[in-house]
Amino acid sequence: MRKNIRQIFEKCKEEYDKINVELIESNEFGSNFKIYYPPKLVECTNCLPTQYGVVHRSGGPMPFTLGDCPWCGSDSGKKEHEHTETVRAKIYPSTGGFARNFYSKIHQSLEVVDGEFLGIFLLSDIEKIRSANYAVVYDKTSTTTGEIKVTLASEPIPHGIGRDKFFFCFWKRT
Ligand SMILES: [Zn+2]
Repeated sequence: MRKNIRQIFEKCKEEYDKINVELIESNEFGSNFKIYYPPKLVECTNCLPTQYGVVHRSGGPMPFTLGDCPWCGSDSGKKEHEHTETVRAKIYPSTGGFARNFYSKIHQSLEVVDGEFLGIFLLSDIEKIRSANYAVVYDKTSTTTGEIKVTLASEPIPHGIGRDKFFFCFWKRT
């Protein structure tokens, strides 16, 4: 019995998506990718602002009587809170063969920039990536400690069969 093209295509896509999700989630091919969002000012739990500066907030962990709050180090009653979130990705350093091939496929003329990484992510994480202030990746090929701070170097671009499950983007070392 002959299957129609549509069914074959759908079967292919299903397999492709399944395999690539497994690769991203696997320890062998995927990596943790830690997103740091822009810091937000939050109320300090240890002090309260008054017109004369800050005073100890009842129940706060570090009582004080004079000067700046020892907990947040400020006289404003606010402190910066940096929210992070970890997603999964396949990361390729620019020196690797795959990233080079990828570059040449999508941008024939694009030079491979030193210190750039290619990341392939789940499309469901695209808004998280767009909101990132910076991120930390673990480079398995690095001979040093491996943790590398990166910032987004390109627009996230939907990727894969149907372009509805994955996206890729480039990252620059900071
Ligand atoms: Zn405080």
